Amino acid sequence: MLYKRSSELFVEANKVIPGGVNSPVRAFKGVGGTPIFVKEAKGAYLYDEDGNRLIDYINSWGPMILGHAYEPVVNAVVEKAKKGTSFGMPTELETQIAQLAVSMVPNIDKIRFVNSGTEACMSAIRLARGFTKRDKIIKFSGCYHGHSDSFLIAAGSGLSTFGVPNSPGVTEGTAKDTLLAAYNDIDNVKALFEANKGQIAAVIIEPVAGNMGCIPPVKGFLGALRQLCTENETLLIFDEVMTGFRLAKGGAQELYGIQADIVCFGKVIGGGLPVGAFAAREEIMNYLAPIGPVYQAGTLSGNPLAMAAGLEMLKALNADNEIFTRLDEKTAYLEKGIHRVLTEANVVFTKNRVGSMISVHFDANPVYDFATAKNGDNDTFKKFFHGLLKRGVYIAPSAYETWFITDALTYEDLDFTIQAVGETAKEL
Ligand code: PMP
Repeated sequence: MLYKRSSELFVEANKVIPGGVNSPVRAFKGVGGTPIFVKEAKGAYLYDEDGNRLIDYINSWGPMILGHAYEPVVNAVVEKAKKGTSFGMPTELETQIAQLAVSMVPNIDKIRFVNSGTEACMSAIRLARGFTKRDKIIKFSGCYHGHSDSFLIAAGSGLSTFGVPNSPGVTEGTAKDTLLAAYNDIDNVKALFEANKGQIAAVIIEPVAGNMGCIPPVKGFLGALRQLCTENETLLIFDEVMTGFRLAKGGAQELYGIQADIVCFGKVIGGGLPVGAFAAREEIMNYLAPIGPVYQAGTLSGNPLAMAAGLEMLKALNADNEIFTRLDEKTAYLEKGIHRVLTEANVVFTKNRVGSMISVHFDANPVYDFATAKNGDNDTFKKFFHGLLKRGVYIAPSAYETWFITDALTYEDLDFTIQAVGETAKEL
């Protein structure tokens, strides 16, 4: 495959956009080479500026659960656009999508729409702090909740339980209120609660982690976390930006039967437009302005294009009783095929999967937290990524990302992918 035009476009982009991209992972820094510039996409495929066709396993990092340019979403956006793209005033559409979301997701009474997953998680934390009148939060190493200051935190050194900034520009003052725990390690969380009694407003977690590859919660972990939060009058926040409307109609709450206090959404809920949302029971949500004291706002929040796209996406998922089973079956088929061809080629690997989220790690040992995810062989991943790319299969350009399976993928596409993995495996 040729990437001449993409390379030229990348050179031009670099002159006017930092790193040539508007979000760092797109720059291929983790894998080397030139980012692919997309021209258009339809269903399971991307078409790039050089005329290559790629089977897409990123799908805009999750939102395109029914494939690219899904017609009901496109039509709804086009029709709405003709009638005005933003008013900064209430519309009936906002209530319609809110009603549908509340009916699909367990345990939420009210929802507020924002413009990204970052905003959803940032606002959820503020709401939790306002509601509990406490400052500290616990997050898990390797979980990503967007790029707001409170989340750009690394583990403090030694015995320190305080976080430290992991980006210049985040102040130590902010960092000290974010405590870091190891994913799937309930004793670690307990110790943080012990050391910070009565001070923890919220624990925020990706109920299935998707930002260090796909990492499922070990049996009992989410339940124990729920119990710990209840005992300490701390709010449990599920960041379902990836898992929401993907793992089940009601997301991970439904899949695992665990009730969170606040749930964050993004990606699928916007059907590919910039949307996020956070939701909770009425008592908590009524803490938000204009009825409550916690301020949160947005000029473009709930704008008609985004709401129209999101509503069509949720309607389609709500109407199709087989969709999540179908996605699970397709992903299981892919998983089995990948397992077979990598094993045949004697590649050392581990794979993780929950529903339509899957990841391959080049390490022999189980991957269950950030430390084990980092054990993966990055050089092998780079070869794997480029081997697949040259065969027309596009996975995320980083060893720490999840593959998102869409309903637009046919079994032919999956067989093509498995064959590409098999051929690539021989080159590793
Ligand atoms: N939470 C999770 C779990 C995510 O995966 C992401 C984005 N990948 C975010 C929050 C932030 O969402 P956004 O990029 O829309 O700000």
